[in-house]
Amino acid sequence: LRDKQKEKVENLRAKVEELDIDETKKFTQFDELPLSHNTAKGLKESSFVNMTDIQRDTIPLALKGEDILGAAKTGSGKTLAFLIPVIERLLHQSWNEYDGVGALIISPTRELAIQTYEVLLKIGKYNTFSCGLVIGGKDYAYEEERIGKINILIGTPGRLLQHMDQSASLVLDNLQMLILDEADRILDMGFKKTIDSIVGNLPPQRQTLLFSATQTKSVQDLARLSLTSPKYISTSSEM
Ligand code: ADP
Ligand code: MG
Repeated sequence: LRDKQKEKVENLRAKVEELDIDETKKFTQFDELPLSHNTAKGLKESSFVNMTDIQRDTIPLALKGEDILGAAKTGSGKTLAFLIPVIERLLHQSWNEYDGVGALIISPTRELAIQTYEVLLKIGKYNTFSCGLVIGGKDYAYEEERIGKINILIGTPGRLLQHMDQSASLVLDNLQMLILDEADRILDMGFKKTIDSIVGNLPPQRQTLLFSATQTKSVQDLARLSLTSPKYISTSSEM
């Protein structure tokens, strides 16, 4: 059974590697992408069939491991643009409970972090990764106790940094992906220094995806500091 599983993952990785980015520009539906059976099922059950522009333009590149600066206005579907690659990239590496935090998603507010978490639970329903929220307000000790077993961690900047400073069980040494979501709002809220501290303490060889509704100078500055040879994707159209 394990060999079968391994073969499936290898097939999937090969398909992603062979993916021609020019071809993917013509894709319209999620089922045209080389996604795992479980993610495809989670998407379908959540009634996600057609991709939005930002999803079509970023998911293939992100699946291939590129760093991305994605700009698209509010409501254009940026959440799935990073959640699908997060799940799939960890799957490609057969990530498991002992590997620690594989992906870190930073959201500006508790509300947005919770929303992202809920979407992740929905589309990731058939995957086995453990997901967790660190958003403040909640019991710190409760978060600290669970944090060592989490694969996909979603948090707000202040609380995340607090855990990085104080929670011995939070190990980010293996981190594969960093997502900075709603980066313009994170910066508007005055979290520049907090983000710099967080990013400065993460393994540099990770993949980073930065999403923003607007392309401001401060977003560009953050991108320069946190991304490596990023692909710039900007869409203006509606869903
Ligand atoms: P953004 O982060 O760009 O503001 P969201 O990711 O929050 O946008 O998505 C906005 C809304 O669009 C959500 O209600 C989400 O469920 C919906 N949505 C996202 N992608 C799709 C899609 N491919 N098909 C249908 N609805 C979608
Ligand atoms: Mg969003």
